[in-house]
Amino acid sequence: MSFNLNQVEISIIVPCYNEAEGLDLLFQRLFTVLNNLNLSYEIVCVDDGSRDRTLERLIDYHRRYRSIKVISLSRNFGKDIALTAGLENAQGQAVIPIDADLQDPPELIEQLIEKWRQGYDVVYGKRRSRQGESLVKKTTANAFYRLISRISSVPIPRDTGDFRLLDRRVVDAIKTMPERTRFMKGLFAWVGFKQTYVLYDRPNRLQGTTKWNYWKLWNFALDGITSFSLVPLKVWSYLGLFLSLLAFTYGSFLIIRTIILGIDVPGYASLMVTILFIGGVQLITLGILGEYLGRIYEETKQRPLYLIRERYGFHDDLHSREL
Ligand code: UDP
Ligand code: MG
Repeated sequence: MSFNLNQVEISIIVPCYNEAEGLDLLFQRLFTVLNNLNLSYEIVCVDDGSRDRTLERLIDYHRRYRSIKVISLSRNFGKDIALTAGLENAQGQAVIPIDADLQDPPELIEQLIEKWRQGYDVVYGKRRSRQGESLVKKTTANAFYRLISRISSVPIPRDTGDFRLLDRRVVDAIKTMPERTRFMKGLFAWVGFKQTYVLYDRPNRLQGTTKWNYWKLWNFALDGITSFSLVPLKVWSYLGLFLSLLAFTYGSFLIIRTIILGIDVPGYASLMVTILFIGGVQLITLGILGEYLGRIYEETKQRPLYLIRERYGFHDDLHSREL
């Protein structure tokens, strides 16, 4: 069977990591929505080095439905990179990344496309509420969004995930961004274009468990902040300036007092506090420098973002296995 790949209108990208159980329901719901649209589509599934039967099951699906294409990465690279692999291989005029665990309701695709037809280049799904999440998660998420919106140079919309529609123009723009730290939310925002959103309720995960924990979320937040803001680097010069001024004032005061009152017993406590405080500030500064430096190091290595082990269903690829 041969058809012109450029005619694919909608590409759905599904990053999958240990999602074998949920695939049946996912495809069932996706097909119901997509077949109603009267548009040509492809579903690009990126297997992110799953350790269960996900890949096997995806290939099986690909054999049955030609619209399902599979990219198998050589190991687990993380969702953002799996998504990048999908974006780089998708052919559609509009691309929609969606989670495999059905937390992004496929039924919303219709509304996303509706807005796209109205001329928007990016239509993101915005969570109406965060109910069902723990208080800690809600508070930390809140704090993160507040912080990043204050210090980042691009406005990063809050309560959005990667579930969105991207016009071909935007996908091509994102493909030109070579950075290794892929904070997708930020990249999507950075490119600009005409953006809008639709509201939705995000249900809980149906099967399996989330791959996030607080340590990962913390690192994710660090990635977001360091790739979209220089404020943490710059703040130290101001703090340093402020502390020097303070020290200078206090020093002048000591000199004058010594001249007037003579030498008294030096204060051990105040000395200790000052030393510890300055030491702490210096260590934090070093740490922040390290965060940025480490990321620069990662970038300069120029390693490929991901390695593909095999692709199924991509006709332009000589090595692609035609089943
Ligand atoms: N995922 C992935 N690689 C990973 C972790 C997750 O491709 O290393 C996929 C996962 O299969 C799912 C999506 O990313 O389709 C979202 O993952 P998860 O549900 O764990 O995140 P959450 O919904 O809790 O943010
Ligand atoms: Mg999920």
